[in-house]
Amino acid sequence: MAKPNPRKKPCPDGLLLLGATLFVLLLLWTLCSTRFHLTLFFHSYFSGRINKTSSDGLPGPPDRTFYDDPELSYSIEKPMKNWDEKRRKWLQLHPSLAAGVQDRILLVTGSQPSPCKNRIGDHLLLRAFKNKVDYCRIHGHDILYSNAHLHPKMDSYWAKLPIIRASMVAHPEIEWVWWVDADAIFTDMEFKLPMEKYKNHNLVVHGWPNMVYGDKENKSWTGLNAGSLLIRNCQWSMDMINEWAKMGPISENYENWGKILKSTFMDKPFPLPDDQSSLIYKLFTEKERWGEKTYLEWEYELEAYWVGVVEGYEEVREEYKEMEEEEGGLRRRHAEKESAWYGGKREEYMRRKGVRKKRAFVTHFTGCQPCNGEHNPSYDGEKCWKEMERALNFGDNQVIRNYGFIHRDLHSSAVSLLPYDYPWFDLY
Ligand code: MN
Repeated sequence: MAKPNPRKKPCPDGLLLLGATLFVLLLLWTLCSTRFHLTLFFHSYFSGRINKTSSDGLPGPPDRTFYDDPELSYSIEKPMKNWDEKRRKWLQLHPSLAAGVQDRILLVTGSQPSPCKNRIGDHLLLRAFKNKVDYCRIHGHDILYSNAHLHPKMDSYWAKLPIIRASMVAHPEIEWVWWVDADAIFTDMEFKLPMEKYKNHNLVVHGWPNMVYGDKENKSWTGLNAGSLLIRNCQWSMDMINEWAKMGPISENYENWGKILKSTFMDKPFPLPDDQSSLIYKLFTEKERWGEKTYLEWEYELEAYWVGVVEGYEEVREEYKEMEEEEGGLRRRHAEKESAWYGGKREEYMRRKGVRKKRAFVTHFTGCQPCNGEHNPSYDGEKCWKEMERALNFGDNQVIRNYGFIHRDLHSSAVSLLPYDYPWFDLY
């Protein structure tokens, strides 16, 4: 006799399913109608768990901080008040993140929100970003890339101010924001910023005091370069950015500022205000307020104008090769994490031997505009893009060497396996 097949029972399962569905719907309706808020339930359940698991560090203690203040604004148009106090309190609540805060740097860089017009623009920007990521990994810095205009009017060279300000708010655990332009490339991967020098300053920028503060009659808008600058995460910087931005496109006096700057800097090529000449103007017109806390660095290339640098790459490479042929310790293979230690050894050697041809720390392709491709017409044809590739390969050689490879020819991104004990055993 055939067994009755339970799956063939016509109705009871269907009825059961219908009943269960109705029951669930009824329950949900009851919960909603009694204003019992499900999301609130889940929220309190999970935040209760966070409270239990964390007294410090991540994801955060339950204590209220400046982040809970609805009045606090991330907008470049709203001044930040009592930032030092807000930040100090937050650090007190996060002792594990407060430890070592004075040495912590966040490198911030970025580009425009839309695709590049230049055919190889996005490729160049990607490689320039990789170059910065490499430098930051080697030196233990955090890095942030922004491709948004955080204020619709603050575009082009003004876009950095809102992102620097927002970064300071988002990262109370970092002491310095280091803005580096997309078109600036690290060409000495070992060089370490001499932060000890800047302990009494809040802004560090590549520039020359005599050009910024002296020569009142004949001022140049290139007395400093704002493409690579360090700014301390503090109230002074919040105020500085606030004042600085008021000369930019958000200002009602924007065009008027342009006239003032144009008449101050005879060599300024365009009529509207740019961030760089605005900064110089601020420094020398309010020297006590801003200049005293600004360190104009000229002893090394916090950024270096590419013309005059790129031609020397091969010669510099030869100089470093000779150094390593002579000093065996410098050519040893080592882990990437040991790079800073070897960098220190190399510095020591160069001081001892008086090596003159040093690698530029940062090569800055000012005037090239790799993304839109509208480079300064005084540069020949494709020179900008070719030289950027060479700078990228020059910097990259110092990175991929620790992975066992090298770009033999700086014009080409192709790599070769690096012989053991290079350069004692050469590539050729
Ligand atoms: Mn630049």
